Amino acid sequence: MPDTSLTPMLQQYEYIKAEHQDKLLLFRLGDFYELFGQDAEIAARELEITLTSRDAGKAGRIPMCGVPYHAADTYIGRLVSRGYKVAICEQVEDPRLAKGLVRREVIRVVTPGTVLEPSLLDEKSNNYLAAVSCEQRSGKALAAGLAFCDPSTGEFLVTEIRGDRAYEQAVSEILKKGARECLVPVDMEADHPIVRAIMAAGQITLTYRDTGSFEVSRARKELLSHFKVVSLNVFGCEEMPLALSAAGACLNYLFETQKSRLSYINRLQTYSIQKSMILDQDTGRNLELYSALRGGSKKGSLLGVLDRTVTAMGGRLMRRWLQEPSLDLDEIKRRQDLVQIFFDDQALRNNVREILKGIYDLERLTARASAGLANPRELWFLGASLGRLPELARLLADVSIRFDCLEDVADKIRQCLVDDPPASLNEGGIIRPGFNERLDQFRDARTQGKSWIARLEASEKERTGIKSLKVGYNQVFGYYIEVTKPNLHLVPENYIRKQTLSSAERFITPELKEIEVSITNAEEQELKLESELFSTLRDEVASQAPRLQETAGIVAEIDVVSSLAEVARVNDYTRPDVTDGDEIVICGARHPVVEHFLKDSVYVPNDVMLDTAENQIAIITGPNMAGKSTYMRSVALAVIMAQMGSFVAARKARIGLVDRIMTRIGATDDVALGLSTFMVEMLELSRILANAGRRSLILLDEIGRGTGTLDGLSIATATIEYIHDKRRVGAKTLFATHFHQLTRLEKTLPRVKNYCMTAKQEGQDIVFLHKIERGGTSESYGIDVARLAGLPSQVIERAREILQELKDSLPGEPGGIQKSGRRGIVGGNAANLATNQLALFVPVEDTILRELEELDIERLTPLDALMKLKEFQDRLRERELGVRVTPRQKLGEGAK
Ligand code: ATP
Repeated sequence: MPDTSLTPMLQQYEYIKAEHQDKLLLFRLGDFYELFGQDAEIAARELEITLTSRDAGKAGRIPMCGVPYHAADTYIGRLVSRGYKVAICEQVEDPRLAKGLVRREVIRVVTPGTVLEPSLLDEKSNNYLAAVSCEQRSGKALAAGLAFCDPSTGEFLVTEIRGDRAYEQAVSEILKKGARECLVPVDMEADHPIVRAIMAAGQITLTYRDTGSFEVSRARKELLSHFKVVSLNVFGCEEMPLALSAAGACLNYLFETQKSRLSYINRLQTYSIQKSMILDQDTGRNLELYSALRGGSKKGSLLGVLDRTVTAMGGRLMRRWLQEPSLDLDEIKRRQDLVQIFFDDQALRNNVREILKGIYDLERLTARASAGLANPRELWFLGASLGRLPELARLLADVSIRFDCLEDVADKIRQCLVDDPPASLNEGGIIRPGFNERLDQFRDARTQGKSWIARLEASEKERTGIKSLKVGYNQVFGYYIEVTKPNLHLVPENYIRKQTLSSAERFITPELKEIEVSITNAEEQELKLESELFSTLRDEVASQAPRLQETAGIVAEIDVVSSLAEVARVNDYTRPDVTDGDEIVICGARHPVVEHFLKDSVYVPNDVMLDTAENQIAIITGPNMAGKSTYMRSVALAVIMAQMGSFVAARKARIGLVDRIMTRIGATDDVALGLSTFMVEMLELSRILANAGRRSLILLDEIGRGTGTLDGLSIATATIEYIHDKRRVGAKTLFATHFHQLTRLEKTLPRVKNYCMTAKQEGQDIVFLHKIERGGTSESYGIDVARLAGLPSQVIERAREILQELKDSLPGEPGGIQKSGRRGIVGGNAANLATNQLALFVPVEDTILRELEELDIERLTPLDALMKLKEFQDRLRERELGVRVTPRQKLGEGAK
């Protein structure tokens, strides 16, 4: 029931707002979009605009604020980027013709995942709307269906993930794709793992939708009808109910928000997460794939180095290839062959890239045309971009890259629009003369009318003898004849007085009014017809969306491969041999980003040898700052680049396909979740051990350093043993550590190999050689690095004294510093170092004596007493060995 205490306009507002409770409603009133009530309060705060109020009738006054309609995009953008949804309510009839209240309707809803405005989009990233549908039994995940749609490009993807890790993988996929908004059914609880993970990620707007829109049968029906197909088999997802449910929910939401037929979303692509390498968020961040850890900018990331694409579509495809390195050898080879073409032919590369520079975002322009949003300027850009395609096709004819040049569409746009038309439709002047006869007639009438007026001015001057007589125009009176006061006595009889000014009077004549009507009519008709002709053109372009999108896809690929070729040439990369074997052999591997930013030194290339037969785990020791992390990362980046189809930063490389890269590098406190550095480290490690398999590559940097030395050392040892076991993990692993004791494992585990990053001491100085060698090292040069970092000299000197004392106190440890790389330390002295360092502070004998003192002998059985005795003995012996084994375990083993 309408609230009759409100003014009629606000009743209309309330009626519309009731349908859009979860959105900010922008209500068009003349030249402004107004917000009322709570919406106004939110918008005023977020947009920092003045909050006023408006008379609401008997109800008193309600808060109000407004933004001018011509600048609304910026304001809407700001609200959407802060996670709000905005409903745009327009006047849908001409106010001049309206009887009573102007009819208003919501014509679009803008949400973070449904943005189409270029100013709100990052041109080189997709803007995905995601939807997720789950299946579980007794609270355990069985499967998840995912849909991703980028309404700004028309891309629509679905996948289904099965197994008890389905939820985790689904979240990882949603985060990796960078979805801006995620639809979930309204009955998904707040503590559902997917909901929790999305909320924790922070940057995704979670939108609850009624369960009906996820219903499989309804989804299937909507998809069949939208794509005008009889079976979803054509898209390969007929048998994927959860994927269909998610896709249906996406489509349904888009219909509701876009209020258009979405004809440009004309294809559903089914993909499998098994077809590409899994790179989770931690790995993306640790390897700085898309942004640098420090500062978060693209510069300093792998994408920053690789992405020299010149079109927006190419930029997005480059990012996608990097996010999803392929596991399909044929596809990798196809891409490599394309890169090779541009790598070998510099002239071709330069010419092609020059043409690409003039090609605008075909995908997004097509999407905007299809949504009825493209303005004259955007269609002109689309036409101009298409105009470049024949030349591109000619250049690529010899290398058999073919595509539809859409000359018919380009011609149509060129014939219809003037060169460089204005962005707005309101002013007219966008349709080319000669394109439409009726339009030309209106234009003639208008111009003739104007010249008739010019002639009238001249003839009236002559007839009346008033030299200063002039014909003018204003909004209120239209055309008038102005005569200055001194000449008023010369005014003829047929002049009708209209207005008196201080120095002149204004008149009209019947003929003047007649011609005025015909001019205004012609102008109105002209504008109306221009707008109609433009809409027809836009619809015609939209009807070619599938062709446009296909060509856009090929242009994007040409851009990516030529960009990869350019980078490979400039940076001296090599084409890797990607195989389905299990070896990673790289000669002269370099870190593609670090080498870029070295100012005073030259990057030292290093070799890599990993396989699952003998070189499964490389334990890398070496001083701080020696380049261990850089080396490990360079290996992972080479694998990623190789599987995206790129050349790699090395002299030579043979890379067996890797299905997943998992990393634990650096310390990240998750303060928000209340987790300590060590806890985060252990959580990540546990995820790695649970997920990595024999085809995976693991990078572990200083595992165990976040806790006590012995605990850390034990965890590190057990981790290596676990990964080494092929029945459990068996992944190729690079393990950097300062626990030199770990190098002992080379003796006991056949597939472990020791490496060290070399450095040498020259007097007081340490020189990093950045060269990897076989063998272990015993030095961390931590104090030297601390000195380089500018610690006070007193601290440095005192630390050196203490270090020397510690070394001297060790049995069998010669006082001098061992030079790295000279001697592998296996067990023995170095292994004792950590234990003894610790023992200096809490001697194990003391603890045992204290425990003995506190022992209640009366209550011990003889067997317990014996076991206790054995435990004490073990602990004393274990101190000698330098490895802690829990007493209970050892006794348990002994008892068997
Ligand atoms: P820490 O043990 O302290 O974490 P680290 O051994 O992991 O140190 P990195 O962080 O990999 O050392 O490297 C330190 C710096 O050394 C890099 O930022 C880079 O500037 C330089 N560096 C690393 N590797 C090389 C190389 N191969 N050639 C030239 N410079 C290198």
